[in-house]
Amino acid sequence: MPGLNDYKDIIGEKNINQIKSLARLSKGKKVVMVNSTRNGGGVAEILHRLVPLLNELGIDCRWEVIGCNEDFFNITKNIHNALQGDRINFSPEDYAEYLRVNEENSRSIDLDDADVVIIHDPQPLAIRHFHKNSKAKWVWRCHIDMSRPDLSLWKFLRKYIIEYDSSIFSIAKFSKSLRHPQYLIAPSIDPLSEKNRFMDKNEIKKVLSPFKIPDHKPIILQVSRFDRFKDPVGVIKATRLVKKEIDCRLILAGGTASDDPQGKGVLEEVTREAGNDPDIMILPLKPNSDIEINALQRKADVIIQKSIKEGFGLVVTEAMWKEKAVIGGEVGGITIQLFNHRTGFMVNSIEGAAYRIRYLINRPQVAKKIGKKAKLFVTQNFLITRHLRDYLALFSILDNPGKNIIYV
Ligand code: UDP
Repeated sequence: MPGLNDYKDIIGEKNINQIKSLARLSKGKKVVMVNSTRNGGGVAEILHRLVPLLNELGIDCRWEVIGCNEDFFNITKNIHNALQGDRINFSPEDYAEYLRVNEENSRSIDLDDADVVIIHDPQPLAIRHFHKNSKAKWVWRCHIDMSRPDLSLWKFLRKYIIEYDSSIFSIAKFSKSLRHPQYLIAPSIDPLSEKNRFMDKNEIKKVLSPFKIPDHKPIILQVSRFDRFKDPVGVIKATRLVKKEIDCRLILAGGTASDDPQGKGVLEEVTREAGNDPDIMILPLKPNSDIEINALQRKADVIIQKSIKEGFGLVVTEAMWKEKAVIGGEVGGITIQLFNHRTGFMVNSIEGAAYRIRYLINRPQVAKKIGKKAKLFVTQNFLITRHLRDYLALFSILDNPGKNIIYV
């Protein structure tokens, strides 16, 4: 696994030294990250890299995954959907089960010696409630699109959120009225991981050969879990509009996350919508298909992420890093990544998506120019090294409440 010094060529020595200086302020600090899955989705993706880098810098950081059952995941998937705006009725039994599993995990996960506990997303949120006498600083890290949550659910969860010392959101629009400080930290990608490292044409060809993708037509790609908020059906419809004028092929690639029980149903819906159109390929991805995703993103002519809700959209960042002009839904974290005609394009409809797909297929030189700017933008804003620096700064801020300046 790459160490911090390996990023020198990408971000420069000055930035590396700044990270090391910040880390010295928190050396030996015991930090525990808690989430609900080791594989699948953006949170696990980030923790796989962030945790080893924090340890390399002398922070004693552990990553714990909560233990849960299928019922709990069904409830928390509904919680996730309702926080992203779906109207869902929760029964008192749902809430009771949610709290029961959180209480159980508060006992099975050892958090007693932690200085800082960072709880990711709503699934393990209520664990804090069952550690009333904890001396640790507790931070709730929200990764989801909270721009318009279901209000009755929000009222229920807010009680548990305000027990924290602070919370972190990915973009300002998601912040809420809470009694504690809120921080903005954007997610990030690791440029040296298998998913993002450089690959040449031969390697791309070799990695993709098992998929037997014919390459005599432009390829449109969306990589994502099969989730309605990612609008895979909308992508198929947009492609059909494009195909009226340009012959092209769509690849919808994705697997399921272990904490997402609805993926199978959505995949069935998408398969039905695709019918037996040979130009719509649904590629089921196994967990840890990083190298395949890397190759697909590099191979694609147009990359789309037509989400209708999106916490951040790491797949957008990954494609931008590969110098692609990405088309994304104008929602959530995509709005701080794609700027029309500069780093990509945002769309609000199937027709808009089709228009931009045609635009980019017909103008490869424009796509190339935007792609270069997109990579630069990611380098400056959304790499794991910036994320690391933000977390280190946060640890110091938690140690110095109320201080405006912390000397490094
Ligand atoms: N991903 C993956 N396999 C899949 C689908 C997605 O490894 O089948 C990865 C994708 O490359 C990205 C992350 O999972 O790194 C998804 O993060 P994003 O923020 O785009 O969406 P989320 O799934 O967290 O809503």
